[in-house]
Amino acid sequence: MLSSDLVRSVLESAPDAMIIIDDSGTVVFANRQVSMLFGYDREEVVNQPIERLLPERFRTRHVAHRRSYTRTVRVRPMGAGLDLFALRKDGSEFPVEISLSPIEEGGRTLVAAAIRDVTERMRFEQEIREARIEADRANLGKSRFLATASHDLRQPLQVIALLNGSLQRLVEDPDAREALEQQDEAVTAMSRLLNALLDVSKLESGAIKPDITDFKVSLLMDELRREFAGLAASKGLELVVEATNARVHSDMALLGQALKNLVANAIKYTSSGWVRLRSEIAGPLVRVEVCDSGQGIAAEHLPFIFDEFYQVGVAANTSRDGYGLGLSIVQRVVKLLNLEMKVDSRPGKGSTFSLDIPASDSAATDAVESSGIRRSLLARAGASIHLLLVEDDPGVRKATRMFLKGEGYRVTTAANLEEALQGLQQNPDIRIVISDYHLEDGTTGSDVIAAARERCGADFRAILVTGDTSSAIAGLQRDAHLRVTSKPIDADELLGLIQTLLAD
Ligand code: ADP
Repeated sequence: MLSSDLVRSVLESAPDAMIIIDDSGTVVFANRQVSMLFGYDREEVVNQPIERLLPERFRTRHVAHRRSYTRTVRVRPMGAGLDLFALRKDGSEFPVEISLSPIEEGGRTLVAAAIRDVTERMRFEQEIREARIEADRANLGKSRFLATASHDLRQPLQVIALLNGSLQRLVEDPDAREALEQQDEAVTAMSRLLNALLDVSKLESGAIKPDITDFKVSLLMDELRREFAGLAASKGLELVVEATNARVHSDMALLGQALKNLVANAIKYTSSGWVRLRSEIAGPLVRVEVCDSGQGIAAEHLPFIFDEFYQVGVAANTSRDGYGLGLSIVQRVVKLLNLEMKVDSRPGKGSTFSLDIPASDSAATDAVESSGIRRSLLARAGASIHLLLVEDDPGVRKATRMFLKGEGYRVTTAANLEEALQGLQQNPDIRIVISDYHLEDGTTGSDVIAAARERCGADFRAILVTGDTSSAIAGLQRDAHLRVTSKPIDADELLGLIQTLLAD
């Protein structure tokens, strides 16, 4: 039926099965590959309706589609986004990809269809999908394992930190004191690693859901200035903070965590000069930059610095200060918050890490500024002050009590909400409650604080200690008489918090 021999021979040698139908849906031409693909002899296909090659359930719909196609002919893949199936002579079905193209022939419009069996490709895609699901599952399992392991390691670490604090205050012998100081350093390093691992695993497992609010970026920058001023000064570095009045629309705690890691790195990798933290409005975005005049990063290392455990110039299995996790946490936060991050670095000159954060377009009130207060060691001032310690882990409870008593405080302990209420009832002179966040029976430190305030007044002082990461802490209601801190809390930090609450 096809006029040109040339066309016929081209279609014959095409690698795909080719079928041409007329406007009534009758096959006017089928090449050799059609027979191979469908198992029909060519004569069994030609002059037959095309629907014969389709599974029964698609036939009626196909007739309608075909009619509408011949009215608006153009070259296109058929059924884009749909799973198409064809039917062999033996009744078996197979997935196909079909592309259609109109042909003008002797004053009428014919439609050419190239049909490709995609069984293999679909199987391959399915295998990839399954492998990805499997990998995601393994990854999630790993993250959960890490989260549980790091969480459970915190309790004994907390005990060691507090016992170390007690011993440092009791022991006079210089050699023993030196050993205790070294132990303290090791415990600090270990808790830093645990915190980083917990952050990575929580971010990765999807356990952290961003809490997006509108807030002034200068709040975060001021907090970072307070936190890092001492460290920068101790290295002789100038810490410059240039904030705009801009407000951003993001998660304050997570953004704070990312910036904190960037500033910590800037200080760590700069031996002289300055570290600058600045923000500027850039259209619908607010750009926050952390720049330093430090050692910089060579171009060949730049692609890898966000990988877990990657440290420039440190061979695998050796270590130096840090664990190579800081930037991988930054990158996870950036992904979670949909931010844009850029790095520009010149060896010997310095580095600039910048984050583009969506600007706020509302005039909502600012999120409450988190305290971030950390005071250095204060003199023994506990004499005669009565504290209520609520902690469900017996080891942590005992070590904390011992330490606080060593500082001269009177301590009543409780393991749960009920005991805490009893303690308050029997001891009206209790001035501060220090409570772990997660307690027995699903109750929390927040419940204890609320109950204590109901009994003793809304300004009853409280310290909430939590093993949760910063974004969970950020969700808690803050007020002037409450301090929230994360585990493992060290001895000096706990004393500092008690002192600031008493001084308020
Ligand atoms: P680390 O714990 O080693 O600091 P990070 O993941 O935070 O791990 O950083 C990875 C590596 O990137 C670091 O080991 C360091 O070599 C490099 N790096 C990060 N920030 C800076 C910076 N501001 N200046 C120079 N090098 C940096």
